[in-house]
Amino acid sequence: MITVLGSINMDLVTITNKDPLLGETVIGEHFSTIPGGKGANQAVAAAKLGAEVQMIGRVGDDLFGNEYLTHLRNLGISTDSVKPVTHGKTGIASITVYEGDNKIIVVPGANLQLTPNVVEEYKEEIVKSDWLLLQFEIPLESVEKALEIAHQGGVKVILNPAPFEQIPKHWFEMITYLTPNEYEAEELFSLYKNDQDVLNSLIDKLVITKGAQGVLLYDGKKEVTIPALKVETVDTTGAGDTFNGALAVALSEGNDLKSACEFAVKAAALSVTKLGAQSGMPSRDEVNRLQE
Ligand code: ATP
Repeated sequence: MITVLGSINMDLVTITNKDPLLGETVIGEHFSTIPGGKGANQAVAAAKLGAEVQMIGRVGDDLFGNEYLTHLRNLGISTDSVKPVTHGKTGIASITVYEGDNKIIVVPGANLQLTPNVVEEYKEEIVKSDWLLLQFEIPLESVEKALEIAHQGGVKVILNPAPFEQIPKHWFEMITYLTPNEYEAEELFSLYKNDQDVLNSLIDKLVITKGAQGVLLYDGKKEVTIPALKVETVDTTGAGDTFNGALAVALSEGNDLKSACEFAVKAAALSVTKLGAQSGMPSRDEVNRLQE
């Protein structure tokens, strides 16, 4: 089983033909609520590919929280460890789209209630997993707590360090694979540029995603590039989340890192051919058809 411990956000997307000035009110064109948040996105990616997935997270006891829980359950994701926080607000991203550009305000809300103590309550759920998938849209101390529990319980971990935070040195031995995109990888290298020991220890954990250029990993001490599939790109939102979810699925099925990345590259390529993060994530059949 794959456990995803992370953020759950409802994206509130407004499309407008007029960008309001400060203090101004305008009438927008279109509004929609779209399930998002890196944690939930990765859980959905893995579930759509057929894996058994449990989510650990927090929503508010509000309409968005209810809607999101139903959405996750409909996809077969176990939400026993997603408790609505009393009087809490589900995390949201308020997104205004104007002439194809975005303005985004994120309010983490209930995601901040996923504290280290709460993570500790889910020790048993974490320890019974094959793989644990983590990102950085929840408190950093909670990520650390989850890493410690997984490490003690022998659970393998993928940490997707997004949005980037400084990763403490002592975390690396608790991480099986680290999946930065190329910008996050640059930040990581610049953080440890004077610490050759850390850089050496990182080599066989790193899986660097490079958008349309594919993925870079190290096979032994040799760099290997897995090229991205050439596809008609419609929307790259959620490509990274699809990649991470798919990577966890392929690894949990016993594939080696390179084969798992090849599978994840296919899933991520399919995701960019459709609009939306979760709505663009492919099913297992769609990925299989690509393999034929
Ligand atoms: P995002 O924040 O948009 O979700 P990211 O920055 O975390 O993505 P990327 O490196 O952009 O991650 O993309 C992850 C993977 O998705 C890439 O390694 C690649 O395999 C695939 N991918 C991304 N963009 C494209 C594209 N235009 N065409 C084909 N595959 C793509």
